[in-house]
Amino acid sequence: MTPSTDRNLPLFERAKAVIPGGVNSPVRAFKAVGGTPRFIERAQGAYMWDANGQRFIDYIGSWGPMILGHGHPAVLEAVQKAALEGFSFGAPTEREVELAEAIIDLVPSIEMVRLVSSGTEAGMSAIRLARGATGRNKIVKFEGCYHGHADALLVKAGSGLATFGNATSAGVPAEVVQHTVVLEYNNVQQLEEAFALHGADIACVMIEPIAGNMNFVRASVPFVKRCRELCTQHGALFVFDEVMNGFRVALGGAQSVYARDIPGFEPDITVMGKVIGGGMPLAAFGGKRAVMEHMAPLGSVYQAGTLSGNPVATACGLATLREIRQPGFFEALSASTRTLVDGLVAAAAAEGVPFSADCEGGMFGFFLLPTLPQNYATVMQSDGARFNRLFHGLLDRGVYIAPALYEAGFVSAAHTPQDIAETISIARDVFKSLAN
Ligand code: PMP
Repeated sequence: MTPSTDRNLPLFERAKAVIPGGVNSPVRAFKAVGGTPRFIERAQGAYMWDANGQRFIDYIGSWGPMILGHGHPAVLEAVQKAALEGFSFGAPTEREVELAEAIIDLVPSIEMVRLVSSGTEAGMSAIRLARGATGRNKIVKFEGCYHGHADALLVKAGSGLATFGNATSAGVPAEVVQHTVVLEYNNVQQLEEAFALHGADIACVMIEPIAGNMNFVRASVPFVKRCRELCTQHGALFVFDEVMNGFRVALGGAQSVYARDIPGFEPDITVMGKVIGGGMPLAAFGGKRAVMEHMAPLGSVYQAGTLSGNPVATACGLATLREIRQPGFFEALSASTRTLVDGLVAAAAAEGVPFSADCEGGMFGFFLLPTLPQNYATVMQSDGARFNRLFHGLLDRGVYIAPALYEAGFVSAAHTPQDIAETISIARDVFKSLAN
């Protein structure tokens, strides 16, 4: 691409004049990795094409929703039909009921669900519900987990357990985060200390069970088990943020993965997004009836939305869920994700690049570290400069992974064995250049 034919750079310049940083969500600006963001013109199946007409094998999948790949015919048909019927009514529709029923059917811990438009809204509403239902103020979260950009959740660890976290964004008053306790992920001892200190005041513990916002870090089974026990013992609610994991790591979400090792395991509240909207703005939170009945108009916890349960978005989500419920869907998706991860590990090993990787269902992550990290501090020991070279090496050759080392990757059902093989072969070339 010569400078005179490149369209991404002039588009980025134009965007920066009218949109802060040129983007509507910060990570898209390539700030961490440098270079010019690719402006995407269209996508189909496992591929996206940018404004220069370059094709990329897409491992972002809109950061998770596109589990069927782009432009799945059954989803397109459902969306087109719904759009003709009307964009938004601000009144109940049958499809909202159908989507709620489908979610409840797939996730046994959920008896009632409220639909909203973004994961942020769902997470924010879930903590309000937890506080309203328990009459308590404090919430526990873990360093490296992202639950959307609600004030009380944009918090990093303070100097100790007795003090509360510090806001990670300007514009969040200290008073607003004074009730947020931030602990190290996978640290049972800190969790026990926090409950010993604040147990009677904790409304909820919120966790990303397979954390995709520090690339890919699993909460260990003993850690999840202890969270569950302590919440039950102290009357706090355990909130699983499955915005990324839900309907992605398994049909029943991460909670079904943990239930394999912890018999009968269930969180109290589940936060969902991404796949349930199939690429349209749709998210949800749900849980046991007794908890959910605290929501207005039944109860006193207020939450509302002009576009909540949007008829086109619910059509898109329902069509997506219908496809992922087909027999064998998750077995096939898991197998191709596993092939990708194993291939990347082997390619890195062949070129002598320190590398570790993991996956569950259609979600994967990798680190330029010899072993998988267990918490945020270890994730951050990853070699950022080397990651950036890897990222650009892949992108230049037509493989699009997340432009930051702390973001997970996603494989869709549209990725063919040829796409996976091509990706591994390109990665091996890039690893070779990294080793030099
Ligand atoms: N929770 C998790 C686990 C997420 O990954 C995200 C977004 N990546 C959110 C919440 C926020 O969702 P949204 O971007 O739809 O507001």
